[in-house]
Amino acid sequence: MNNAIYNFNAPANEPILNYLKGSAEQAGLFKELNRQLTEPVEVPCIIGGKEYFTGNTTDIIQPHNHRQKLGVYHNVTEKELDIAVNAALEAHKLWSDLSWTVRASILLKAAELISGKYRYLISAATMLGQSKNIYQAEIDGVCETIDFLKFNAFFASKIYEMQPGSTFNQLNKMEFRPLEGFVFTVSPFNFTAIASNLNMAPVLMGNTTIWKPASTSVLSNYYLMKVFMEAGMPDGVINFIPGKGSTIGRRILNDPMLAGIHFTGSNHTFNTLWRQVSENLGKYRSYPRLVGETGGKDFIFVHPSADPLEVAVNAFRGAFEYQGQKCSAASRMYVPESLWPQIKEILIEISHEVRTGDVTDPDNFINAVIDEASYENIMNYIGYAKNSPEATIICGGNGNRSEGYFIEPTVIETTNPRFKTMEEEIFGPVLTVWVYPDNQIDEAVDICDTTSPYGLTGAIFSRDRVAASGICEKLRYAAGNFYINDKPTGAIVGLQPFGGSRASGTNDKAGGEFNLIRWISPRTIKETFLPATDYRYAYML
Ligand code: NAD
Repeated sequence: MNNAIYNFNAPANEPILNYLKGSAEQAGLFKELNRQLTEPVEVPCIIGGKEYFTGNTTDIIQPHNHRQKLGVYHNVTEKELDIAVNAALEAHKLWSDLSWTVRASILLKAAELISGKYRYLISAATMLGQSKNIYQAEIDGVCETIDFLKFNAFFASKIYEMQPGSTFNQLNKMEFRPLEGFVFTVSPFNFTAIASNLNMAPVLMGNTTIWKPASTSVLSNYYLMKVFMEAGMPDGVINFIPGKGSTIGRRILNDPMLAGIHFTGSNHTFNTLWRQVSENLGKYRSYPRLVGETGGKDFIFVHPSADPLEVAVNAFRGAFEYQGQKCSAASRMYVPESLWPQIKEILIEISHEVRTGDVTDPDNFINAVIDEASYENIMNYIGYAKNSPEATIICGGNGNRSEGYFIEPTVIETTNPRFKTMEEEIFGPVLTVWVYPDNQIDEAVDICDTTSPYGLTGAIFSRDRVAASGICEKLRYAAGNFYINDKPTGAIVGLQPFGGSRASGTNDKAGGEFNLIRWISPRTIKETFLPATDYRYAYML
């Protein structure tokens, strides 16, 4: 038995490759894109290391080219759900007892595989299945996935080294037990890295998971699962079960051994899961840990001292990269009257310049939104604004779904700071702007703080550093990730731990100790060397 006390050093973030035209990396990526486009895949459920082809299949489509399918996946049925629970509990016996450095080594090997051998595989699947351009797929599927894996090993070291003091007559220890039971992992469509981390954070701490991927990101998630297996993940530690959320949820949440839920997605779904758990409370062996990161209505607040070009460029990128389908995407902006004409002009200029289309054309900045339901939902919001006397479309406003679900980057100007599109999460390429009188900045900050139920990300642009600091204080609870002179998207693991407050989730900060700590249940052990032999207090002797 190797009894060394081991620490992982803080890693460096994974470098982002540029995929320049004519580079070897662009050629490699395009070769893999071509392979995935021409070799349809059949994705099974993977439970206890075994593949299950249930025969109940759903097509895997490309959002930007919905007629060309990438393959099919097999939906889990009731029968396999029982098998998945048993597999996760069986694997728990081995996995929870294994040295945590052995567990970490499997995660670190997965990181190396994604960094090298499978970089293009994961990127191409994220591009084709989730409609991300090269850059967006690289920073998500590759770099952030790797960063989560590597940084978590480092953060786990910090947790495991936390021990209480011992005196001459006693030895005190903390044992960081994994949770008793299995963790139900429910991942969203928009980040391959999140899907990976929702599993790997609890798994690193010794838990086993049952993983329900989003139906619109099955392709990249399946390849992740295969990489985890190649990295040495024992059978049953992660059980991959694509299928209908409500059917899966009902069975899994009814199980007495549900130890936790690790979720990222909409409020509606997280609230449903929480409600189901509370209805089943009496059944569980332990109180399940509920960790969920949910929606956002992320803002940019512009101070009159801000630079208009910096504001416009960062608003455009913050609102429209990945078609606004980032939980952190800017979707409402507060602009002083004095700066609006210049900012507006630059936004219009950029919107005329950017190209929209298929992910395989590197000149396209904008790709498609994820599916038809999403397309309709977003276009309904735009239609609402078009028909309202309180709103004007500044740029964009059109969609086209004949080949893919394309929506133009759309900026709406409203006269009502509580207009529907200033309040509700749209999750698409729509930014609404309210222009405030320069002399009513305090009122505007109050409105920004109280308009939406969410508290995920927010940014302020200001060249007046003292004013920026005052607004940052006033908006203390408006965002769990706050930016000064930067767009509110693009948090990096190890640098900006991510998560919001209010209706945006439990704020357990993915990519840090705060999150990992939720997946352990510490046991304190006190050993006394010379136990008492007389019941009396000293003064009674
Ligand atoms: P979603 O809620 O529709 O789906 C999330 C997952 O839940 C999917 O796997 C889905 O199939 C599953 N699901 C749905 N109903 C279920 C049920 N009854 N039981 C069990 N599982 C069920 O969300 P989405 O559309 O995939 O993602 C977009 C949402 O995610 C947005 O609201 C966005 O803000 C949020 N998001 C938040 C963060 C964050 O860190 N705060 C990050 C990414 C995405």
